[in-house]
Amino acid sequence: MVKEANAGPDGPPRALVVEDSAQQRRRLVEIVAKALSGFEVSEAENVSTAIESARRLQPDVVTLDLGLPDGSGLEVLRAIREGGAPARVIVVTGESDARYRRASLEAGADEFLDKADLALLPALLAEPAED
Ligand code: CA
Repeated sequence: MVKEANAGPDGPPRALVVEDSAQQRRRLVEIVAKALSGFEVSEAENVSTAIESARRLQPDVVTLDLGLPDGSGLEVLRAIREGGAPARVIVVTGESDARYRRASLEAGADEFLDKADLALLPALLAEPAED
């Protein structure tokens, strides 16, 4: 992987929230900022912006929606993993079907959360599972 010149381990830890609904994005940013104090929280609303932001920011944590206007969050996930980034990726989606869960985990997601269970997100963010 060729790293961007401005990417690197320096500076504050970074989180990236990928979600196309502005209202849900605001809510997610709020939750992430509160759970991960000291993190710089960025946002992306579609696949292309998310991939670009992930490459540029090298985030430590990503919350990833699957249903995006220009494609699937799985494309973002694959791009992140192909880039070799160690980001912790938490899929947060309304598509809670088992197929999506399996596809997400196979593509390299660390966690899969139904949007109906958003109340569980702070705990997932704060305490990475060690399994
Ligand atoms: Ca969506």
